[in-house]
Amino acid sequence: MSFLTFSGITKRFPGVLALDGVSFAVERGTCHALIGENGAGKSTLGKILAGVYTADSGQLLRDGQPIAPHSPLAARQLGIAMVHQELAFCPNLSVAENLCLGDLPRRAGFVDRAALRARARAMLATIGAEIDPDTLIGTLSTGREQLVQIAAAVGTGAQIIVMDEPTSSLSAAETADLFRLIRVLKGRGLTLIYVSHRMDELFALCDNITVLRDGRHIATESIAATTPARVVTQMIGRELIAQTPAHLTRELGTVRLEINALASPGKFSDIALSVRAGEIVGLAGIVGAGRSEVVQAVFGLDPEATGAIRIHDRLLPLGSVEHALEAGVGLVPEDRKRQGLVLGLNCRENTALASLPRLSTFGWMRRRTERSLAERYAKRLRLKTPSIDAITAGLSGGNQQKIALAKWLARDCDVLLIDEPTRGVDVGAKAEIYQLLDELACEGKALLVVSSELPELIGLCRRILVMREGRLAGEVPRADFSEAALMRLMAGVAAAA
Ligand code: ADP
Ligand code: MG
Repeated sequence: MSFLTFSGITKRFPGVLALDGVSFAVERGTCHALIGENGAGKSTLGKILAGVYTADSGQLLRDGQPIAPHSPLAARQLGIAMVHQELAFCPNLSVAENLCLGDLPRRAGFVDRAALRARARAMLATIGAEIDPDTLIGTLSTGREQLVQIAAAVGTGAQIIVMDEPTSSLSAAETADLFRLIRVLKGRGLTLIYVSHRMDELFALCDNITVLRDGRHIATESIAATTPARVVTQMIGRELIAQTPAHLTRELGTVRLEINALASPGKFSDIALSVRAGEIVGLAGIVGAGRSEVVQAVFGLDPEATGAIRIHDRLLPLGSVEHALEAGVGLVPEDRKRQGLVLGLNCRENTALASLPRLSTFGWMRRRTERSLAERYAKRLRLKTPSIDAITAGLSGGNQQKIALAKWLARDCDVLLIDEPTRGVDVGAKAEIYQLLDELACEGKALLVVSSELPELIGLCRRILVMREGRLAGEVPRADFSEAALMRLMAGVAAAA
């Protein structure tokens, strides 16, 4: 039987499912690492164990028996303590007073100073901390304050100690001291839950490791059986591994988007390009080169645009979003807050937005269709939202961007114009968006992607077109991709001899 078991722990905060049915076991006398990206739910899980938060559902078991740390005090009585990053003590009281705060020794009605000092000294001694009990907490370094927290935990009989990113503000020497102490505590049979991002620390210190991602439990493995590379993959999702997108190995289809002599006064001129089914073409350039203006014109947003745009060989009337939509063109704009999403609407409504004409032809079944569409794409995009009815504005940038994409997936358009697909998106969501764009290309959609991040275009595209000052400055095929070559074209600098 495992010593400590998390079973189906779920915790919801307004607008976010912080923990989603997390289950794993911790063995007695081990140091158990908890790792995951920012927002993965590590601190929330630690705080549930330490009684700071209460889980919405799920169970904590100790030696197979349910335990309920409903407050920090209840947790302490169960032998569970947490070492917090934030100051956990009263800064203007002494170390001794803080250590004995809950139970000040008294004699004849007065605090017994000598007993207080002696007890504090004993507590500090149990962890080998050489700190004068009369020092004011506020004057200690973070590292030493942390030691006092650990002394308090151990001194009050804690058997399980949660440490939340304990080394984030420690010096190298303090970190080494902490590690030594953790090993001593482990030797005494204490169990440590150690939250950290620092892979080297975890591998040096911990016995087992649990990876959380987006509030979900991904893996619990022994440190000996895993590797840092494997853990990174688990943290971020396998998509982040630098792998060649699958669409590059597929055959291209027919030309879906063809642009000739496209121009708009003061914005761009003489633009000619084509994108085939199954192709991702990048549009690079410095800010102001006219990239966004071009994709906006293709989507019918520029009333002054002239030239010829063909979708599936059919001439597209310029300056009309309605015609662009009808022809199967979608735009995920750069500024999704202003243009891409209606932030006051929920995910379901936003997903369905671009498909309204289609959905409403089914009049009577529209609600249900809308819901099932949204659910299908929320799943496909691994949307992190408590429900598709959550308001979009409450979601992270990565999730908002996924909804902006979902909008066009739901519409099932053939030509997708995507302006800065991962701006303001964290590393994990980025990987998922890349994966999604690859899938879309594999399905035969034609994608024109504007990005200011060259590595992004280099990773994704079959060809990259470079714009400079409103004109196409060149085209680079994948075989010749290099940041240096692209930057030279962007800046209009001739290659060195
Ligand atoms: P980690 O420690 O892994 O970085 P957290 O447990 O702090 O992650 O957060 C998990 C998720 O829950 C995040 O989306 C975070 O914004 C949210 N969250 C955490 N605490 C609160 C809170 N008190 N109120 C609302 N949301 C919270
Ligand atoms: Mg945290």
